[in-house]
This record gives sequence, structure tokens and C-alpha cells, in this order.
Amino acid sequence: MIKILYDNCYAHPLPEGHRFPMHKYDLIPKQLLHHGVITLEQIIAPTPCPLDIVLETHSKNYIDSLISLQLDAAHIRRIGFPLSPELIYRELMLVQGTIECCNFAFTDGVSLNVAGGTHHAFSNKGEGFCLLNDFAVAANYLLNRKHAKRILIIDLDVHQGNGTAQIFKNNKNVFTFSMHGKNNFPFLKENSSVDIELADYTSDDEYLNLLKQHLPNCIKKHNPDFIFYLSGVDILKSDKLGKLNISANACRMRDRFVFEQCKNYNIPTTVAMGGGYSPNIADIVNAHCATFEEAIGIFS
Ligand SMILES: [Zn+2]
Repeated sequence: MIKILYDNCYAHPLPEGHRFPMHKYDLIPKQLLHHGVITLEQIIAPTPCPLDIVLETHSKNYIDSLISLQLDAAHIRRIGFPLSPELIYRELMLVQGTIECCNFAFTDGVSLNVAGGTHHAFSNKGEGFCLLNDFAVAANYLLNRKHAKRILIIDLDVHQGNGTAQIFKNNKNVFTFSMHGKNNFPFLKENSSVDIELADYTSDDEYLNLLKQHLPNCIKKHNPDFIFYLSGVDILKSDKLGKLNISANACRMRDRFVFEQCKNYNIPTTVAMGGGYSPNIADIVNAHCATFEEAIGIFS
């Protein structure tokens, strides 16, 4: 039975003034349940990630400043959220959610976190709504415990996984593949193992052809025994930050193609949501739910 990691702390929105659609995390499991895609038994609530596990990836200075709410004002502005104990608790939950997804993926093939994909967090700083890098913490968790030897991180959020690229730039056991908007945030990009830069208004066909051209080669070349997939839906043409011209159907085809690769090669896969900023929340929730539908359809 494929497990979905979700904690209802996301039902409580951040204070007024933030511009991040946090309540999508509350709507996704409700819609999946309502449409009969999942049952309640599939939903597992994570606990907060222990700090010693976080410290396998993030610097002690950064974590100490974060936990004591002592980050300087410029750093907090780069993160984009007002810093609070609730926010840090939520971030530790989403990191643990991704770690627990990994444990479930070994038995069920795939597991999905209704949160996460915080790929702009570096080892020593946060930015772009990301404080802790869940994929990086979970990948190091797997490597350090010898649960995996060769990891592939597939990042198809419209924004480059700059924090992930920085964290693993000297780690030959982690291959980072990022397909993202060339002219989008972050404007100073890091070097992933493979970066595919997309022009503004990239079409469905161009997008899917690039994915089909490059992703299977990465899998063959790196030969991973574990995959992380960041399925951001800010590639949609309706997205206010995305700058691409991708339809909801092509977004679903993207997910299907990724899951078919993971399944065909029999590689356990953990999925996290990443971005989605369409003005109409239904566009965001429908696209994220399509990711779950495709994963469950292919791995069940
Ligand atoms: Zn994004």
C-alpha cells in the first residue's frame, strides 16, 4: 500500500502577509480522499526530524541561528517567511516526512510527501521559502546508513534546485538533474550534475521532448539505487511565477514519464511537491493530485 506523508500542521496558514499558498497542502489529501485515489489508511503523519540528522547536511552555525530565531534580517528576507517556532517545527516535519517516504519506498516502490521539495536551502543558509533541504537531508540519511549507494535527484520544479546542487557538488554518489526556467529565480544558478535550461514560453512538446531526451540517459549513466523526484507544478502556463507554457495535461505526462522510468528500472522513489503558484488554487491542487494519481497508477 503506497504511503502518503502528511501532517495537518499545514491546515493552519502562516500569518497574514506571506504570499505562499500553504493551504494547498491541506487541500491535496482532502481531494485525493474525496476522489477515492487514496484511503485514510495510506496517510501517515511524520514526527519532527531529530536535529542530529539535520546536522548531517546543514551547518551547525546555521541550524543554531535558525532554531534560536537569530538569523539576521537580510537572511530572513531571502527566506521570504516570517521566522517563528511554528515555521521551524513545520520544516522539521516536512524533512522527516521525506525521510519516512524513503523508508516506505523500499517496500512499496514509491512514497509521496504532501509537502517538501525545499530545494533552495543550502548547507549554510535558506532562501526562496526554503529553510531545510529535505531531499538533501534524506539523501545523506540514506547514504550515511548505507541504505543507498547511488542517488539521483530529479528536480522538475520550474526553479533551479540551487541549494541541492551546492550541497552535493562534490559528492559523486549523488547525481542532480534539474530542468528549470533559464530566466527564472534563482538568477545566480549553481551547477547541478545536469542542468537543462528552458526558454520562456517553452511549449508542451519542447518540454516533454527535452525530458525524454535527457532523463533516461542520466539514469543509465548514474545507475542510481534510489531516486528523489521534485514534482513542482510551477511549470504550468497558469503559474504566476513560472514563465513557461505547459498545459495541465503535459504536466501529468511529465509525471507519468518520470514514474515509468523509475518503475521500469525498479528504483525506489520518493516524491515531494515543490512549488505551484497559479492564481486559481484549484489549478495547483489538481496538478499536484495528478502527480499522486500517476504514481499510484504506475506503482500499484
Ligand atoms: Zn519553484
